[in-house]
Amino acid sequence: MADRKQISFYDAKTLLEKYNIKVSGELCTNNIDALSDAAERVGYPVVLKTNSEEIVHKSDIGAVILNIKNREELGNAINKINENIKKAGYEMQKELLLQKMAAPGFEILVGAHQDPVFGPLIIVGSGGKYVELLKDSAPAIGLLTEEDVTEMLSLTKAGKIIDGYRGEPLDKKVIISIAMNISRLMAENRDILEIDLNPIVLYKDGFSLVDARIIKGNPVFVEAVPEIPQQRKNSLNKALNPESAVIIGASHPGKMGGIIFKNCLRIKKLYPVNPKLDYIQGVKCYKSLKELPEPPDAGIFIINAEAAVPAFEEFCKIGGKGAIILSDGFAEVGRKDLDDKLFELSGKYGVAYIGPNCLGVINNFTGLNSFFIPEHRTSIIEKPNGIGIISQSGGIGMEIIEMMESDNMRLGKLVSIGNASGVGIAEILDNMGEDPDISVIGIYLEGIKNGRQFLDIGKKVTKKKPVLIIKGGTGGGAEATMSHTASLAGNAEAFKACCRQAGFYFIETMTEDPKILVNILSLLTTNPMAAGNRVAVVSVGGGAGILLADQVTDSGMNLAVFSEETKHALRDLIKAKKIFGANPVDLLGDCDDDRLLEAIKIIDKDPNVDGIITAIYLQVPYLSEYLPDRLVDLKKSLTKPMLVSPRGFSEHVFNTRKYLNKKDFPTYTIPMIQPMSIAFKIWKQYGRAF
Ligand code: ADP
Ligand code: MG
Repeated sequence: MADRKQISFYDAKTLLEKYNIKVSGELCTNNIDALSDAAERVGYPVVLKTNSEEIVHKSDIGAVILNIKNREELGNAINKINENIKKAGYEMQKELLLQKMAAPGFEILVGAHQDPVFGPLIIVGSGGKYVELLKDSAPAIGLLTEEDVTEMLSLTKAGKIIDGYRGEPLDKKVIISIAMNISRLMAENRDILEIDLNPIVLYKDGFSLVDARIIKGNPVFVEAVPEIPQQRKNSLNKALNPESAVIIGASHPGKMGGIIFKNCLRIKKLYPVNPKLDYIQGVKCYKSLKELPEPPDAGIFIINAEAAVPAFEEFCKIGGKGAIILSDGFAEVGRKDLDDKLFELSGKYGVAYIGPNCLGVINNFTGLNSFFIPEHRTSIIEKPNGIGIISQSGGIGMEIIEMMESDNMRLGKLVSIGNASGVGIAEILDNMGEDPDISVIGIYLEGIKNGRQFLDIGKKVTKKKPVLIIKGGTGGGAEATMSHTASLAGNAEAFKACCRQAGFYFIETMTEDPKILVNILSLLTTNPMAAGNRVAVVSVGGGAGILLADQVTDSGMNLAVFSEETKHALRDLIKAKKIFGANPVDLLGDCDDDRLLEAIKIIDKDPNVDGIITAIYLQVPYLSEYLPDRLVDLKKSLTKPMLVSPRGFSEHVFNTRKYLNKKDFPTYTIPMIQPMSIAFKIWKQYGRAF
């Protein structure tokens, strides 16, 4: 069978009717007598169409003729269609499709395709000729429930029209049941690659499905992944949270094994293994794994790939609990066989491994840091908090740490998974989800192997804590498709559907770097929660306040309307002539420390405010060198989140920011408003601080 091929009208109709979806029309011999008999039976006006499996978009070549009112018009239509089909380079057809002309209604699309990562993906939205142009559809993965389809519809403009936008509501139940049935059809027929029901003409009561396009090909199966066994979870947990660890390939400073050994010295019990050395950096060195006084929790492998495989087996045999394999030379250089061997050993001994070809794990609670970057070249955060990071790229993981360090942020745990031939992103997410030390999770993702597992685990984890995702590789690279559905529902759409259904915060509009993720994590972990999204903007210097206020509303937050009490208090503070109630609040260029601090206090008390943005020109004459310390103290007493943005790029500004950061008082430049709007949503959803 060709890769993908449209099935005949008859086969499509039979298949859909098995799933309770009625298709309009019948096939008739291509001559006036047969077609006219059929037209009399269904009643004029009728529609005549081609029935070719080769022709995918029928109206494009003039092979759909609408509103045929009598036998004479039917005769003309037959001639016209036969002519157009010939002109387009196709053979004359033995049969044509005759349908009753559907009464005008609202055209809906229900479509589906088999996504290679997530399995059946269903979309619903506006139908008709202009679907690609209108792009008004929402996707979802898996077997759909009534709630799923209702949510999908609510995300589209079509859904609003169905609900009765400027008119009577339409038959929503019909679309819900068609979408649910299509999702079952796709799950039970993996060789059905694409389906387009377009249009389904929808009425107040009922519908007419006038075009059903079904593409069949080689089946696409997405393996169902069973629940992770408890034993495997325990093994991974030991690798991530070890009290004892062995470093296979530990060495002198300057070597990779030396850097990692040094970075791990905070682990309670650390054993270096190297057959050539007696001591490493003052610690007794073991010649082999067999000599260790106890089976360690974590095995950290730095030796070359060929040697790492037997060493991993040895580690399993001595009772090691879980492994972090940093070694390269595996699938990434064409040696997938070595990854396969690790995978096999892992199954045989029940020992989970992270990597290979990764930077491994930082755990600031136990002192584990397997990153092989020398400490003078990158930052090492040692103060722990509830932030957990999972990165599919070691380099991005490192950049994230550096961004965090330069803002003096804290970090709980970070895992870089490399080739992930053993433990995948989903399993690490599962572990961090159950980890009481981790309160918020950030992920940098490139691709996922098993989408369904990621979705299922995600649903569980996001019930307990927020999970934020940035993803590389969402643009471009669309595969060739035959249906509207497949062109609307490319890989990026499937991933977005996964995020929505799992409850992940997918940060779609990224800046050039992962700083947006870092700033969200920073805001979440250094502020009390916000109850809503009404923001007060306070500025020393009017322009900055106005710019920020615009962005506040652009990002979906609201500008707070101050209470009368606040307005009066601000008027008194600024000694203004009339009531002072504007937001953004400009504290003017002669602002001193007292005025700024007092204004923040007044605004923090206002019940109409949920969060404060303070934009300051530290350069103005009356703000003093003592302001930073007073800000630090003030922030401790605030009941609402406050984001402080010192404006400008002078040395004075840089130095003050650095000083504030050191006092665990983060300051922000770009991006900050979008992160704030996301943080507000998270506070609202979880109803607590992090
Ligand atoms: P294709 O999508 O292959 O071009 P369709 O069968 O969907 O062909 O026909 C094109 C358009 O013609 C539809 O989007 C719909 O607006 C209209 N149409 C087709 N069949 C009917 C029908 N039986 N009744 C009313 N309108 C129809
Ligand atoms: Mg169509």
